[in-house]
Amino acid sequence: MIEATTERELRHAVGKWRAAGERIGFVPTMGALHAGHLSLVELARKHASRVVTSVFVNPMQFGAGEDFTRYPRTPEADAAALAAAGCDLLFVPAVDVLYPPGSSTRVRVEEPSRGLEGDCRPGHFEGVATVVAALFGLVRPEVAVFGEKDAQQLAVVRALARDLHFGIDIVAAPTVRESDGLAMSSRNVYLSPDERRAAPALYQGLEAARAAIAAGERSSAAVTAIVRARVAAEPGLELEYAALVAADSFRPLERLAGEVVLPVAARAGTTRLIDNLRLRVD
Ligand code: AMP
Repeated sequence: MIEATTERELRHAVGKWRAAGERIGFVPTMGALHAGHLSLVELARKHASRVVTSVFVNPMQFGAGEDFTRYPRTPEADAAALAAAGCDLLFVPAVDVLYPPGSSTRVRVEEPSRGLEGDCRPGHFEGVATVVAALFGLVRPEVAVFGEKDAQQLAVVRALARDLHFGIDIVAAPTVRESDGLAMSSRNVYLSPDERRAAPALYQGLEAARAAIAAGERSSAAVTAIVRARVAAEPGLELEYAALVAADSFRPLERLAGEVVLPVAARAGTTRLIDNLRLRVD
């Protein structure tokens, strides 16, 4: 596995592959890698002949008072795991490689950024869209893989790639979970033992919602009430939101129809957990 930190090193390696007619797959991450991230690398390998993974803790997508400085950083373990997963190039840029002095462009994707995470984390999706656009420009992949775990981010990235004509296929990877259902996240290391025990209630709320939908429930208010009730029964968790939205636009739905997402966010102590259910309702 090649490790690149500069634009020159990255372009040199990727340029050679492109000249040889290879198809480049790309997996952007913030590191502290777990099995969810590695599943994205494996999926990218199915869609491309070379896989580039970036590890960059993007300061622009963290709000004031969020966890940028204490975000987990495990560079040696990340490199070893990526090499074992078949990644061909690991790109670890410094902040001034991604945002050279004088860079002042910001990318804002309007519709799917509205509401939910967009409301809870003002400026977050502008930071995400800007860094993803910069990384797309640097790597110029044919295909990029993003996790369904971050459902609103996935909708924002799809809109970005479409609206700015990047010509990059966006592939979605299913959420990888712990055995008790908790969605894997680099932030799970923040959880105390009690918070870790409470956390799967969020997933249990989603599964209860899935069962109600399978039994014919089509009212968004009724479905989100089921999630609320399950999370309220868990003293260690506080729900921030549960909503039903269209999968591509993230527009709220009163009744379920078509491709829908049920995104949820909760707090366990000071740690935010997000998760979602994605389903097709006929
Ligand atoms: P992050 O490092 O948190 O920025 O995530 C990098 C990529 O990994 C994003 O596309 C996430 O959606 C994806 N990802 C994070 N956690 C999971 C998970 N548990 N299962 C699948 N994909 C994930």
